[in-house]
Amino acid sequence: MGKSEFDYEPIIEILEDILGDYKVHNDYKGQMSFDCPVCSYEIKGLDHGDGKGNLEVNYRYNVYKCWACGETNETHGSIHKLIKKYGTPRHIKKYELVMPEEILENTKTKVNYVRLPKEFISFISVSEGLKKTHYYKQALNYIRKRNITDEIIKRNNIGFCYSGPYANRIIIPSYDENGHLNYFIARSYEYKPKLKYRNPEAQKEIIIWNEHLIKWDQPIYIVEGAFDSIFLENSIPMLGKVMGEKLFSLLYERANEIIVVLDGDAWENSQKIYHKLNGGRLFGKIWTIKLPLDKDVADLQGDLSQFKKIQLD
Ligand SMILES: [Zn+2]
Repeated sequence: MGKSEFDYEPIIEILEDILGDYKVHNDYKGQMSFDCPVCSYEIKGLDHGDGKGNLEVNYRYNVYKCWACGETNETHGSIHKLIKKYGTPRHIKKYELVMPEEILENTKTKVNYVRLPKEFISFISVSEGLKKTHYYKQALNYIRKRNITDEIIKRNNIGFCYSGPYANRIIIPSYDENGHLNYFIARSYEYKPKLKYRNPEAQKEIIIWNEHLIKWDQPIYIVEGAFDSIFLENSIPMLGKVMGEKLFSLLYERANEIIVVLDGDAWENSQKIYHKLNGGRLFGKIWTIKLPLDKDVADLQGDLSQFKKIQLD
C-alpha cells in the first residue's frame, strides 16, 4: 500500500475516542481540531471541553499542538505522544498496530528546519516608505510599549510581519553558534489577539536560543522566554518552564556559573532546575533568584539588582 492510500480512519477513531467530538475536520489537509484537555481540565478545571477547539491535530504530519497552551504546557508533539499521554493502554496498542513502523520511528528523529517567514521585515532595515504606514507604526508601538530599545532590536535582529501567516506579529529570531537561524518566536502585537504566540513547529528541546551571543566564561542566566532573554545579557531562554536535555548537557559541559531566574509563578520549576544542575563539576556554582509572583525578567527589563541571588539546600 502506497503512502497516499494510507487509511487514517482508525487513527481518527482513536483521536475521537480520546478527545471527544472534533470542532473542525479538514480531510484534505488531515487536520482536526478538538478542545484541549490541558486547557479544559488541568487549567480551567472543567469536566467537559472548553468549547474553544484549540488543540489541532494533523494526522498526515503526525503532530499535535494546542494554540493556547502549547508553549507554556508542552502541549505539542507527535500523535504517538498524545495517545500515550491521554489514551488508555488499549488506545496505544491499537495505534501502534495501525501505524507503520517507519512512521513511528520517523517521528522520534524528525527535525524541522526553520526559516524566517518570507514576509519578515527587520526593524533595522525598514524603508522610508514603510515607516509612514500604520503597519509599521503599530508594530513599533508594541516594541516601545514593552520597552525594547534600539540596541536590543539590533542585537537580536527583531522584526515583524504585517502580512502572511505571521501577519501582525513581532518576530524574534534565534541563531545557533554559527549564526544559522534555528528558531523564531512570533508574538502578536494586536490588541487582544486570538493567539498570543504562533511559533514554528520544531523540536524545541534541541534548540539553544541565540547560542552565538553566549559568553560561556561569564555567569549565564536561565530564563523562560525569548522576551525575557532579550533584556538580560548572557541569558538562555528555555522556551518553557522545563529544561531540555540538550541545554542541560551543554551547560554541564561549558558553563561555569549559572543563575536560574524563572517567572515569579514558577518557583517550583526553578527549584527543580537548580537541583538538577547543582552536581558534578557545577556543584556549588548554581544560583537562583526568586521573583515576586506577578513578575518576570521582561517586566523588570532585565534589572535584577533589587533581588538577591541565593543558593538552596
Ligand atoms: Zn491547551
